[in-house]
This record gives sequence, C-alpha cells and structure tokens, in this order.
Amino acid sequence: MTSTQQRLREEAAVFCQSLRPVLEQDEEWRRQGMLSDGDSREVYRLLGEAGWIGMSWPVEFGGRGLTRLTATLVEEVFGYHWLPLSSYLLSYKTIGAAIERYAEPALVDLLLPPISRGELIFCQGFSEPGAGSDLGSLTTRAELRGDTYVVTGHKIWTSSAQLSDWIYLGVRTDADTKHRGISVLVCPVDTPGIEVRSFPTLGGGYLCETFLDGVEIPVANLVGEVNGGWDVLMYTLDFERVTAEKLGGFAWVLNAVEERLRETDRLDRVAAGRISRLRGELHASRLLSFRAADNLDRELPGSASSAMAKLSGARLAQAIGDAAVDLLGLEGLAEGAEAAIEGRAAALYRASVGSTIAGGTAEVQQLVIARRGLGLR
Ligand SMILES: Cc1cc2nc3c(=O)[nH]c(=O)nc-3n(C[C@H](O)[C@H](O)[C@H](O)COP(=O)(O)OP(=O)(O)OC[C@H]3O[C@@H](n4cnc5c(N)ncnc54)[C@H](O)[C@@H]3O)c2cc1C
Repeated sequence: MTSTQQRLREEAAVFCQSLRPVLEQDEEWRRQGMLSDGDSREVYRLLGEAGWIGMSWPVEFGGRGLTRLTATLVEEVFGYHWLPLSSYLLSYKTIGAAIERYAEPALVDLLLPPISRGELIFCQGFSEPGAGSDLGSLTTRAELRGDTYVVTGHKIWTSSAQLSDWIYLGVRTDADTKHRGISVLVCPVDTPGIEVRSFPTLGGGYLCETFLDGVEIPVANLVGEVNGGWDVLMYTLDFERVTAEKLGGFAWVLNAVEERLRETDRLDRVAAGRISRLRGELHASRLLSFRAADNLDRELPGSASSAMAKLSGARLAQAIGDAAVDLLGLEGLAEGAEAAIEGRAAALYRASVGSTIAGGTAEVQQLVIARRGLGLR
C-alpha cells in the first residue's frame, strides 16, 4: 500500500467515526448496518459532501482522479465501519463507472456531478422474471419512435428502486438476435409509466419489482451504442463484483466475535482456530478484490478476476455469518444494536443467504472463471 493510500484510509476512518452520531439516529442502520437495502440518503449526501463519492473520477466530475484500486482500499474502511453503502455502490461504483465509460459527454455531464455530490441515487434494472443468470434473454422491449424509445416490460429484484432517483435499464432493441439485440437506457424513476413495488426479504430489507408500461425515454439517454448494451452490462457487473467493502464489514464481525468470546471466557482453541482460518480466507479474498480492481484500472479483461473476487467474498459472507452465530450461541441470534456485537451476527447470517445470488449466482461466477479465466469450453 502506498503512503497516499494509507493516509486516505486513515482519513476515511476518521470520517466514518464522525458519522457515528448520524448513524445511531437511523433505526434501519441500527438493525442492519451496511447490509441494509434501504439506504440512508443522509449518509450518502454526507459522503458526497466530504468528497468520498466519485474518488476514481476526474476532478471535473467531482472526483479526485484516483485509481479504482485506491477507491477499493478506502471502501474497505467504509465497510469496516458498517456504513450503509448500497446507494454509493450502485450509483458510483457500479452504474457510474459504466456511464463514465460509455455514455455521451452530455449525459456524463448531467449525471456524474450530482452522483459525486451524493444527490442522485441510481438503481439497476437488469433482472426479469425470465432472465437472471441468462441475462441475454431479457425481454423488456424498447421501440424507437422518432427520437424517443417507448419501453415496456417487467424488472424484478431491483435493489433500492423504492428510494432511487434514476434507473439503469437493460432493454431489448432487436428481437431477432440475443446478446447483440440489447441496449442500455437511463431515466428518472418518476417518469410516467414506471411503477415500483417493494417487498420484504429474508435479509431483513426490501427488494422491488419495477413495471414499465409505455415509458418514454429520449434516445439521448442511451448508454453505449444501440444493440451494444451487452458489453455495457458486462462492464457494469465487473465493477459490481469487486466487493472489498463487504470484506471490511466481515473483518469487523470476526474481531467483534473474538472480543465477545474473550470477555465472556469462551475463547477456547477450537473457536480461536475457526476465527484464524476465516481471517486467512478473508485475507486471500481481499487480495482477489484488489487484483480485480487493479485489472479494471489497467483495462485488462476484468470478468474472470471480478468473478473470483465476487465468488470468494460471497462464500465468506456465509461462512463468517455461520461462524458468528455458531460461536456466539443464542446471543448470536439476537438482533438490534443493543444485542451482542450490535446484532450483526444475526444480520450477516440472514443477509448472506442472498450473497451467492445477487450480482450473479455462485454457479455463474464459476462459469465465468472457467470460460474467461481458464479458457475452458
Ligand atoms: C439481494 C439481491 C439483490 C439483487 N439486486 C438486483 C438488482 O439491483 N438489479 C437486478 O437487476 N437484479 C438484482 N438481483 C437479481 C440477481 O441478479 C438474480 O437473482 C441472479 O442473477 C440470479 O437470477 P435468477 O434469480 O433469475 O435465478 P436463475 O437464473 O433462475 O437461477 C436459478 C438457479 O439455477 C442456477 N443456474 C442458472 N443457470 C445456470 C447455468 N448455466 N449453469 C449452472 N447453474 C445455473 C443458478 O445458479 C441458480 O442456482 C438481486 C438478487 C438478490 C438476491
């Protein structure tokens, strides 16, 4: 780690401490922390105000011109402090990265500055009832009429749609081909014809269904080429799958479990051994995340390295959630900020069920690693 990266991580830790009083006012955070699907808009705004959103973007878009690797190292600190990050991750790290790379300058100028100020939240409308792992089968259709696309379809599992300002949509612009008939459009969520319905999840938060009925979106809101959307979707997922921020949160959980066992005189050799092994795996997963971020900086094909980072982080979420509730016993199942280790053993245990599904399932990551990383057929 360079001295600049180290300094930024220290500054980020101080900033996170300063947010603690704000976080403690937030009922949702007290229950779920960084695992909440429903985000704290106030924390997102404060992150933007302090210059932490858009770190890897050029200064003219509100960024700091840093590398994605440096941003990833800082995000790990945010995770360690359990900041509610879903708006940050979707709007800046994932969708913002693709907009910066693929959108026309006017759209970039319109969207990146308010994202970096923490004022504009995006959600991601890729999955549909019949298109998840096989995203190339998506059927939400966009018909060109003059200089407007008219979009009709049904998206599902749209995280944070209930609190987002804009939506990032994978749509079908050519019904005669599969992957080469997809485009990406963006529009405000309050555009007429969009209806969002949220529902509670096992993880303790919410997911949404998004219905689109004759939604009019200007051609100028295309991200990338018409029918070139598949590459944009894959690029977006490469950024989404580098999840070092979550690893920061897992490190906090392991430290807190160890501390709790020590103070209650339960830290025997079996427990200490299990925690040590998980710490080793966590370190390996961090290195996979940092390598994937570095590959993205160097514009090397990201998919296999991002998939490795995602797969190892998702499995660790479950292993550490499991270990935390096991080792703490009954108190590990208690939820809420007053419970042992602030209720985060139970929160992680529940939320981690979705970690091997969200952003592409574990099986899909294995396919990506096999095909694009190892060249297997
Ligand atoms: C918490 C959470 C948040 C999410 N947020 C979003 C979001 O914001 N936006 C969004 O667009 N989507 C989101 N999703 C949806 C997610 O991307 C999909 O659930 C995921 O891609 C899997 O798709 P599916 O649910 O249709 O399952 P399916 O694709 O139907 O898969 C079912 C099972 O079959 C397996 N399978 C499928 N194909 C293969 C294959 N070729 N080889 C081996 N096994 C296979 C899968 O691994 C899985 O076990 C979210 C999901 C979760 C759980």
